[in-house]
Amino acid sequence: MLHIRELSKTYANGVKALHQINLDIPTGMFGLLGPNGAGKSTLMRTIATLQDPDSGSITLDGLDVLNNKHEARKQLGYLPQDFGVYPKESARDMLEHFAVLKGVLATGERRDLVEALLKQVNLWEVRNQKLGGFSGGMRQRFGIAQALIGQPKLIIVDEPTAGLDPEERNRFLNLLAEIGESVVVILSTHIVEDVTDLCPRMAIICKGEVRLHGEPRESIRSL
Ligand code: ADP
Ligand code: ADP
Repeated sequence: MLHIRELSKTYANGVKALHQINLDIPTGMFGLLGPNGAGKSTLMRTIATLQDPDSGSITLDGLDVLNNKHEARKQLGYLPQDFGVYPKESARDMLEHFAVLKGVLATGERRDLVEALLKQVNLWEVRNQKLGGFSGGMRQRFGIAQALIGQPKLIIVDEPTAGLDPEERNRFLNLLAEIGESVVVILSTHIVEDVTDLCPRMAIICKGEVRLHGEPRESIRSL
């Protein structure tokens, strides 16, 4: 469970990107919906401890995230918008590297983990292909595998379906829903259907403020 309390951030140029944000996010898929410039990326990066707010608090299963960033980073996986891949590396080699970075040092354990992850995201068949040749959907699924190393309690995914064709999109969202059975998955998007199709809970953020917080069907109807 993730609790966000009174989170605020004003950039140096005076833009109020977040204004007293309060959110309670349980295990499962949570949709964060809002137009461009709403503050979604600022909120995602702040939860991922990549950026400091001016004030407020974030707790993940009781852990004070902002005051324990090192520990918090071990418990979360973040998939930014337009994340880069090393085009000449194979999916399997790259995941191996990330597993080493995350501290999975025993060779056998690492091989098993990488195999399980590649199977989970349905990339086992293409494990030896270079990432540079992957389609958008394959890249996103690779990103999820990468985010899952270390068994995080929270996965943050920023605008993941942009540029995916309908089949890849469905496949990707279903993968997220599967992962959401055991961890908190925050899906940030400006696409209403991404949220209404799969997220049991959601919030709408606009100009740095939470406008609605609840279940999609009720929330969309009340707009
Ligand atoms: P998004 O696609 O999430 O709306 P933006 O286009 O707003 O992203 O921002 C892309 C990047 O540029 C982000 O890293 C953001 O922090 C930065 N950025 C956005 N707006 C400004 C700004 N007015 N001044 C400086 N950096 C900005
Ligand atoms: P979203 O992800 O919903 O598009 P962002 O969090 O990227 O929203 O941006 C929220 C607001 O903050 C926008 O007005 C954006 O231009 C501004 N912004 C984002 N990053 C920066 C930055 N580094 N410096 C100044 N303004 C920024």
